[in-house]
Amino acid sequence: MNKREMLASQFRRLGILWLLEQFRLRRGLLVVNYHRIGAYEGNQFDDGVFSGTPEDFEAQVVYLRKHFRLLRLDEVLEFSRAGFQFPEPCALITFDDGYRDNFDLAFPILRKHGVSAVFFVPTDYIENPRLPWWDHIAYVVKKTQLRTLSLRTTPPMTIDLTTTSRRKAIFQILRAYKTANKADEARFLSSLEEACEVRVDRATLGRELFMSWSDLRQMADSGMSIGSHTHTHQILAQLPVADQRRELRLSRDLLEINLKKSVLAVSYPVGGRDKFTVTTKRLCREEGYELGFSFYGGINRPRQTDSLDIKRIGIEITDGPLLPRTRMVLTTVFGRTF
Ligand SMILES: [Zn+2]
Repeated sequence: MNKREMLASQFRRLGILWLLEQFRLRRGLLVVNYHRIGAYEGNQFDDGVFSGTPEDFEAQVVYLRKHFRLLRLDEVLEFSRAGFQFPEPCALITFDDGYRDNFDLAFPILRKHGVSAVFFVPTDYIENPRLPWWDHIAYVVKKTQLRTLSLRTTPPMTIDLTTTSRRKAIFQILRAYKTANKADEARFLSSLEEACEVRVDRATLGRELFMSWSDLRQMADSGMSIGSHTHTHQILAQLPVADQRRELRLSRDLLEINLKKSVLAVSYPVGGRDKFTVTTKRLCREEGYELGFSFYGGINRPRQTDSLDIKRIGIEITDGPLLPRTRMVLTTVFGRTF
């Protein structure tokens, strides 16, 4: 048990979580974000994007419905236009990346409980399914037979796989990619393949990974909302202005053409504080987006919320049963993500 889990179990044992839930949940909007649903054991791609099993997810939906007013995206839009005056503790469920398990596993659970969620999709992966960079990196590192990896990252990186776990190695390489000043996706991946002596056929491996337009249409017609997660899922802050605009415009146009619904919300790929900029927000506004979702934790309080930086907390499969509840409660009460 790690430190956070120990603290969470003390909170529960002492009844602190229950007391906070009953008497202290404050007005605001808690946005909970998921990526993949399913079991990650034996998965050949990135374990880090799994948010929970279907059972975990269902328990969390039930929990959120009991303690919060669960909103639909159009209700969040109405609150946004009226200055975010949330009258009570509210919550919104969102998904990023458009994985097919969202349709197969999460959508039936949401329907069963009469709950709406927002699915933010990178449209290029719907149009041309293939391995995204994070799954590509994880796949190569899981498959390599080499004991030492010498990577031409900036700065160069050497990883000894006899002393470093694959999980940690993947984490380190993903971090190098995400923090690169200007990541060149194709170059980074081909140089990684070369360094690991693993060849990847992205189109074949990723063929079944993402939802189709028909899946998305079915969800949109059943009360779910679909938003943009840009077109190619590049980190916006790393792109020149013209490319950022293209990412925002193209994905919105494709979503509107294919779903016949207006698209007013975007979630920024990776979503950290430095992964989108003031310019990104201006471009969003100019391209007709009213809501932009970040991903670095926190709560959205009445009158203190920026409609183009709506804060979200993440749920991870390794959290176990107690941490998501603790995180939701402590974020809502104290505004700090646990
Ligand atoms: Zn994403």
